[in-house]
Amino acid sequence: MVNIPLYLYQGRALPRPESLYDYVLDQVGVVKRVESTRYASADKRLITFPESNSEPLTGLQLAQYTLEPIRPKFPRIPGRLLLDLLADARQNLSREVMYHVRYNPTGGWRVTRPDQQGHWSRVGYDEQDQHDIMLEIHSHNTLPAFFSTTDDRDEQGGRFYGVIGKLDQERPQLVIRLGLYGHWVFNIPGLTLFDNLGPCEEIYLDPPVMAEPEPRRSFEAFTHLFRRWG
Ligand SMILES: [Zn+2]
Repeated sequence: MVNIPLYLYQGRALPRPESLYDYVLDQVGVVKRVESTRYASADKRLITFPESNSEPLTGLQLAQYTLEPIRPKFPRIPGRLLLDLLADARQNLSREVMYHVRYNPTGGWRVTRPDQQGHWSRVGYDEQDQHDIMLEIHSHNTLPAFFSTTDDRDEQGGRFYGVIGKLDQERPQLVIRLGLYGHWVFNIPGLTLFDNLGPCEEIYLDPPVMAEPEPRRSFEAFTHLFRRWG
């Protein structure tokens, strides 16, 4: 069990988190800060104190912390990989397909597709193999691209997560978020990760709007069951 620190922000620069993430209490609320060696560094404000409460924590001399921008720790993903996985997902409109976009400094980029039918061998796809996955992206076939409650349960790590949808249309939808170990930074622009988005139309989601029912829930629950093996 890792002890996660909570810092008070009193105006002096804080070192970035040493181990995955930490929390900062500042004048206006609570910030979660993530510093992953592989994926990204990012800050997200989790709690904002009500404005009516102008002196919320008297005596702590808190200052207002400025959020750091998101910084991926890897080079841009070649747009052709997005085209490749789009083409593959369009061949599979009757189901959802998961893709792992992987990077290692010597071998470069590649995309793998764990077999969600359960036929695939787990050989060569153990825990160690997870470490080079920078982006997990799955298709919602002809349905819109959004993050379902099932996705929320499953995407608890610190990497980037994406969904492609409306694959039967000329401009398929793409949505990306960054995992913060239980929270997410939504609305990551596609060009933050890819050097080219091809035909994709980016969808920006307002998380409170996403409390809609999960389409094809039982099927997705099934695919995510297999995903957990990885
Ligand atoms: Zn999904």
